[in-house]
Amino acid sequence: MAKVIIIGAGGVGTVVAHKCAQNPDVFNEIVLASRTKSKCDAIAKAIGASNITTDSVDADSVPQLVELFRRHKPDLVINVALPYQDLTIMDACLECGVNYLDTANFEPKDEAHFEYSWQWAYRERFEKAGLTAILGCGFDPGVSGVFTAYAAKHHFSAMEYLDIVDCNAGDHGKAFATNFNPEINIREITQNGRYYQDGKWVTTGPLEIHAPLNYPNIGARDSYLLYHEELESLVINFPTIKRARFWMTFGQEYLTHLRVIQNIGMARIDEVEYNGVKIVPLQFLKAVLPNPQDLGENYKGETSIGCRIAGKDKEGKDFNYYIYNNCSHEEAYKETGMQAVSYTTGVPAMIGAMMFLTGKWNKPGVHNVEEFDPDPFMEQLNKQGLPWHEVIGGDLEVDKIG
Ligand code: NDP
Repeated sequence: MAKVIIIGAGGVGTVVAHKCAQNPDVFNEIVLASRTKSKCDAIAKAIGASNITTDSVDADSVPQLVELFRRHKPDLVINVALPYQDLTIMDACLECGVNYLDTANFEPKDEAHFEYSWQWAYRERFEKAGLTAILGCGFDPGVSGVFTAYAAKHHFSAMEYLDIVDCNAGDHGKAFATNFNPEINIREITQNGRYYQDGKWVTTGPLEIHAPLNYPNIGARDSYLLYHEELESLVINFPTIKRARFWMTFGQEYLTHLRVIQNIGMARIDEVEYNGVKIVPLQFLKAVLPNPQDLGENYKGETSIGCRIAGKDKEGKDFNYYIYNNCSHEEAYKETGMQAVSYTTGVPAMIGAMMFLTGKWNKPGVHNVEEFDPDPFMEQLNKQGLPWHEVIGGDLEVDKIG
């Protein structure tokens, strides 16, 4: 029996609130707080559970967060606001003795750069305070790390080649839209690519390397090598890995729009002056693009995200392994009013919170998900709407690229 505060009332926050409300035996009190309280109220009303209350907070402000935590005295905060707020929320957690979970690592607003060092710097303080912080507990990062930990525990003596493959084969019927916060999404995709090879990081141009990969129940989709944050912790936590890469699918129409957005300067994150007002072009673009939360209604098709791993099995023989989940946009919408990208992020965030609150992932310090026992989390994925499947000894395709 525990009390959680969810911060952020976007697509992911909506799913987290729904899923916590579906598990009242673990989450007996839920507070949904965000910058715009009316959004929290609308979500709480749609869920209609008596144990959800709402509040407002500017999560850029530590004093406001401290006040919020003192008012509600939660056991855990589920941070599904934006990556810019990670450190202020962690600071407030330390001040008030609250445990912490998020789905994306810290990014400074003025630099499209993400790495764990800023949050890992809190390790000692969380440990000394006896508090647990669980980092990156969405799908990727999140389930991608749990899948890798599960593969290491049950199938491999040494994982050598890890490829995380993320396909969205859905169609929302819009000319251009992003599936989660457009500012965060476009910053991520327009960066250089990066992958890990033999102890070093190799940098590529943005979306320079791509190849068609086959996804279960979907078929072949052009998949692009991106840098993704979980690679940083996975190669440290599984040091037998020789190469680690991340792939995401994009359609040609999406890429054409993205190229134009960049070419005309709308992806800029520095301030420009317009009619005497300072604006950040990418933030302005977010205001005119479709809201990712409104895509769900007409979204067809499914996502497929998984890990393709090659290495040595428990007996030391060569072994190929693929573990994945497919999630239907329509089913996700029916259950929560949100599309599958928000769903596949929000469900694991709730499960991570459940793992902590039921004592299975309770370890003072700051941890990435793969540092915990994957088994109880994997069991819940099957129960909470994200069932997973394994392919043993199949063709991983990825060894033919690069
Ligand atoms: P949205 O933009 O839809 O929602 C973000 C929410 O945070 C909004 O309600 C917003 O409030 C609120 N917010 C923003 N700034 C503040 C602030 N200073 N104080 C309080 N609330 C604030 O984003 P998503 O729901 O799509 O994404 C949420 C998080 O999930 C992001 O960090 C994203 O990177 C992460 N994510 C992780 C994935 C994974 O697999 N690990 C995949 C997809 C997303 P307002 O409405 O007032 O603007």
